[in-house]
Amino acid sequence: MIESGERNAIDKHVSLNLNVRGMPESATLLINEISRRLQHDGREIYRLGLGQSPFPVPRVVVNALRLYAKEKDYLPVKGLRELRGAVAEFHREKDQVNARPEGVLVGPGSKELMFLLQLVFYGEILVPTPCWVSYVPQARILGKQVRLIPTSYEEQWRVTPEMLLRICEHEYDTYRPRILVLNYPGNPEGGTYSADELKSLVDIARRYELIVLSDEIYGQLHFEGAHVSVARFYPERTIISSGLSKWCGAGGWRLGTFTFPPELEWLLNAMAAVASETYTSVSAPIQYAAIRAFRGDVSIERYLWHARRILATLGNWCHNKLSAAGIRIHPPEGAFYLFLDFSLLADTMAQRDIRDSETLCQRLLEEVGVALLPGTAFERPRDELTARLAYVDFDGSKALAASETLPLDQRLPDDFIHKCCHGVVAATEKIVEWVSKG
Ligand code: PMP
Ligand code: GLU
Repeated sequence: MIESGERNAIDKHVSLNLNVRGMPESATLLINEISRRLQHDGREIYRLGLGQSPFPVPRVVVNALRLYAKEKDYLPVKGLRELRGAVAEFHREKDQVNARPEGVLVGPGSKELMFLLQLVFYGEILVPTPCWVSYVPQARILGKQVRLIPTSYEEQWRVTPEMLLRICEHEYDTYRPRILVLNYPGNPEGGTYSADELKSLVDIARRYELIVLSDEIYGQLHFEGAHVSVARFYPERTIISSGLSKWCGAGGWRLGTFTFPPELEWLLNAMAAVASETYTSVSAPIQYAAIRAFRGDVSIERYLWHARRILATLGNWCHNKLSAAGIRIHPPEGAFYLFLDFSLLADTMAQRDIRDSETLCQRLLEEVGVALLPGTAFERPRDELTARLAYVDFDGSKALAASETLPLDQRLPDDFIHKCCHGVVAATEKIVEWVSKG
């Protein structure tokens, strides 16, 4: 008879699916938990680890949720018809693409939809790095191959047509089914692709029949409101990924959307079949409220412009401060992230026994209470001194209310972020001070 403690130990090592054995919780959620625990123990912690919108859900959308709280039925697996229509209309209007209601799949977060896509797709996934934390672990869970495409600071952390060409031209597997993941405005680097850059990527994608998974979850948080979707240039093989989490401040509502062209509906149908055997459908009240969000109105447009103005002002302020301290960063163009590269400070870091991104973040957290995520979480090499800063630790309701008192065609006054985004300002100053200690 095996004792129960021993049984557990055996189970842990033998009976767990090999793909998930030893797998930790996702880096974003874990850093949030650690920060929360440290705060609970009385430490002052600046929470720039998890990337979630600091802004509240727009009032009209919250009111819609209230109104539909009584909705209790299971809904169609692909999503409510009206919602699919509203999402298609949203992309038609905002992105000038020919989206159709039948091409929309609604899921419990775009994260889950990406998992389903990787599950049903039999081929290779190409992921430029640094990349969002979950694409690669999802593939690992499924035992899939991911081809990472490392980019560099000099290339603004963007994939180039030459890099793509090198992969696609590989003599043995030129026409292997492939999905290229593009994410812009990007997490973790806060940059985006220009229309011309997208067009030259499309030239290669079209030549090699790549499917593009275009992760545009931050599209509406382009600071100039000028997001351009690659689907405009490559409509036949682009899937647009979006949802309520970022532009609508509703990460915890868990509603994401994929929009497919007719040519890729076989993928949509396969994903829906798996969804019908797993989560059934997204929560009914959330779907009804989401119709309101995607249909939009003047109040939501105003909310978005204020959010963009605040994020642009804060992101640029952090960028200027941190670059002046010798950290390499590109000026942000959207979303709420900066990807910090400490490589110019490698010698002074080494003198402090810091030679990799994980030690770098651990020491920042221990010594000054600033929580960042290390470059390794974004599939960068361990010894590269990079880290992501999510400039979201402030009261978004207060900042919005203050911004709303100032005309939208003006810049925010210099003291705005000191008054309204204190957490991020203090954390940035702490990093600068810590770096300058030498
Ligand atoms: N893509 C990117 C780039 C993200 O940062 C996130 C994080 N929320 C997601 C996808 C997933 O978002 P959600 O599941 O909340 O739709
Ligand atoms: N996307 C957010 C981030 O990158 C967090 C949410 C998540 O990972 O699901 O920090």
